[in-house]
Amino acid sequence: MNTDNKPQVFKDATDFKTQFCEECESIFSKTYDELNDFERYYALASLIAGKARNAKVDGENDEKQVYYFSLEFLIGPLLDNYLLNFGVRDIVKAGCEQLGTPLEELVACEADPGLGNGGLGRLAACFMDSMAALGINGNGNGMRYRYGLFRQEIEGGRQVEMVDNWLEHGFPWETRKNESAVVVQFGGQVVRHQDGERFWFTQEGGEKVKAVPYDVPILGYGAKKVNTLRLWSAEPATEDFDLDAFNSGDYAKAMKFRSDVEAISQILYPNDAGEHGRVLRLKQEYLFVSAGLQTILRTYEKKFGKRYGEKLWEHLGDHVSVHTNDTHPAMCGPELMRILVDEKRVDFDTAFNVARKTISYTNHTVMPEALEKWPIEVFRHLLPRLYMFIEEIDRRYRDTLPHDVEGWANVLSKTAILWDGQVRMANLSVIFAHSVNGVSELHTGILKASTLHEFYELRPDLFNNKTNGISHRRFLGNANPKYAKLICDAIGEGWLADANQLSQLEKYEDDPSFQEEFEKARRWSKERLAKYIFEATGTQLDTSMVFDVQVKRFHAYKRQLLNVFKILDLYNRILSDSSFSPRPTAFIFSGKAAQSYTFAKEVIRLINSVAEVVNGDPRVNDKIRVAFVPNFAVSSAQLIYPATDISEQISWAGSEASGTSNMKLMMNGAITLGTYDGANVEICDLVGQDNIKIFGLRTEEVDALRAAGNYWAWDLYNNDRIRLGRIIDELTDGTLAHLSGNFESIRDELSISNDHDLVLKDFYSYVDAWDELAQAYGDRRAWNKAAIHNTARSGYFSSDRTIREYARDIWHIDA
Ligand SMILES: *Cc1c(COP(=O)(O)O)cnc(C)c1O
Repeated sequence: MNTDNKPQVFKDATDFKTQFCEECESIFSKTYDELNDFERYYALASLIAGKARNAKVDGENDEKQVYYFSLEFLIGPLLDNYLLNFGVRDIVKAGCEQLGTPLEELVACEADPGLGNGGLGRLAACFMDSMAALGINGNGNGMRYRYGLFRQEIEGGRQVEMVDNWLEHGFPWETRKNESAVVVQFGGQVVRHQDGERFWFTQEGGEKVKAVPYDVPILGYGAKKVNTLRLWSAEPATEDFDLDAFNSGDYAKAMKFRSDVEAISQILYPNDAGEHGRVLRLKQEYLFVSAGLQTILRTYEKKFGKRYGEKLWEHLGDHVSVHTNDTHPAMCGPELMRILVDEKRVDFDTAFNVARKTISYTNHTVMPEALEKWPIEVFRHLLPRLYMFIEEIDRRYRDTLPHDVEGWANVLSKTAILWDGQVRMANLSVIFAHSVNGVSELHTGILKASTLHEFYELRPDLFNNKTNGISHRRFLGNANPKYAKLICDAIGEGWLADANQLSQLEKYEDDPSFQEEFEKARRWSKERLAKYIFEATGTQLDTSMVFDVQVKRFHAYKRQLLNVFKILDLYNRILSDSSFSPRPTAFIFSGKAAQSYTFAKEVIRLINSVAEVVNGDPRVNDKIRVAFVPNFAVSSAQLIYPATDISEQISWAGSEASGTSNMKLMMNGAITLGTYDGANVEICDLVGQDNIKIFGLRTEEVDALRAAGNYWAWDLYNNDRIRLGRIIDELTDGTLAHLSGNFESIRDELSISNDHDLVLKDFYSYVDAWDELAQAYGDRRAWNKAAIHNTARSGYFSSDRTIREYARDIWHIDA
């Protein structure tokens, strides 16, 4: 795999075994044979991490440094991916085999780092992979959360949240860098100083926090480049914590300061519900922004101080790009200005221009109510000096907004940073950015037309689209080993470096022997998943069934509820019509709901209740089965995607910014059953209408329906008591109550709340589409052709493509 003249990290399996056994002894002072599987995994990961940190990469290049700021990096397990990137997977596999523990078993020991929620965090991780693969100087800047969101267990059908202590057994990939720690200041007072003409400000008192970085090496494919993901941890800046209290024996009080500070990096917040406005969250945001920028400027000054002298800071944007993933790093703009003005004596206007040349912003949400805001009072109290910059930028923005612009008052009300007692982080992000991008064609269109429309009218040149992508190496190369091997045997290994080469598979779409091997690979993946699900849940799945999969965070707009309604409809039809016999299908769900998101948690309970009823009913359970896989994570995602026949992407049109599981699944040869939403639109364009199943209202139709205000969901209930009405009745008539009771709140959502997410509206269109698709599965040859065609057209969705576009259009670097 490593075809260059790169030195191999292992000469052969024997060399690998020697090094591996030495590592075991140096870490545990025990021989390989004396260790358990986890310890063996740990030693192997340590060995590979060491090689990644020390990899001899192509000399330091002078290209721009990109800093990708993201509160989340959902990196997943690294070991198997790094073996692939080093090109030593086969050697290591053989060596492990000879030592007596299959590599797969060691790989399965690796914990999922609890560093992200879902799509947004996974995108950041895929971008890190692609930047390293393409040789870009790409630095990740994020938070090292001591605990992840939570570990999900299911009890009595309900989601139960347990502590996600992912660091419990150590994280062999990270290195603590004491010498690179920086101080971040919260609260206190702003003091004005004057010396003749010159005046300046300092922030006195308040709370000083030490941000300590932990670095994770990011190894690019082919090991030509190693970048760094830097994750910050909060600690007290000084050890003289409330010494008086300590000396007088009040240890609890003395330690409180310490735990208050450490709380900043203690826990990852959910990104999607109910957690808005937590001060600790604002502290997290400022900590990683300030620590990251201080480090960037220190490094830049060291490198370019001599070359540019007085003009040093004006050139920052030539050598540094700061990319902000969503609004969580929105303080990058004002914080960069604060450091330049207060500490580097740059004047205000220059500092603003430097910031704007350096910073770019990716928006991830179309729903205005979901845009991040902070009460001014909270903000000013926590970050008094930063707030002064925001206030001044806002004032100047208002001043420079042309008064002859049409609807001036409206434009101001939509675009100002400070409004209605709030700091609006999306507007802050836009005003400080030289580029604003959406994450799919449809999403970018909606930003321009509505969410950020007023900005778009003022500055159309700011806006661009960068359709998301995924690491095809991880999600096809690592996740689907049998299919990946089949592809390599057919078209070579070039696709791992260049995903567009997957298009060469088009030649094989209709090839009977390729199709046969494809089916074998799929069957193997389905067996692997069925075994995993059985061990995790006790639910038995028959791998000859269609595997119909919806795995993602639980959210009303993603409409897992619509999927459950379809299953209940099938259940009812089988029972009431003996001639009805749908294609035997296993419906697989996985995903977490935010702790405080009651509705989403009820949908999880509903799925488990339906599973209980369906799986236990011999009249139907040879035709339909339902499984809920607990604790969705990158590791389980990698088992699920390759086993999927039908990919459920059923958010209401105009709600999902892009989606990325849709891409991962189509790349693995699943057929999409989806709405015309997010990147589904682009999948449809690429594979053609015959190789995807689209249903439901389009964005324009949803908009028109909402604008007309004449949708009455309950009419649909009243008009159809046989199918839709019956399903809704079953929510509360005891049919599903055995596990943990009825589902009144879901019924209320559809009736009293008038079905905001259009579950009833899209129901028939969805069920009909599913019926047709499931029927099509019967023609194995046509199905396999379509499946392979999906893989062949999926190269576009490699994050390598996405990153090339960011590099070219936003960061202005060659890649
Ligand atoms: C890809 C991925 C997601 C995103 O899924 P969507 O369906 O696009 O929301 C979430 N979680 C994990 C673990 C993933 O790998």
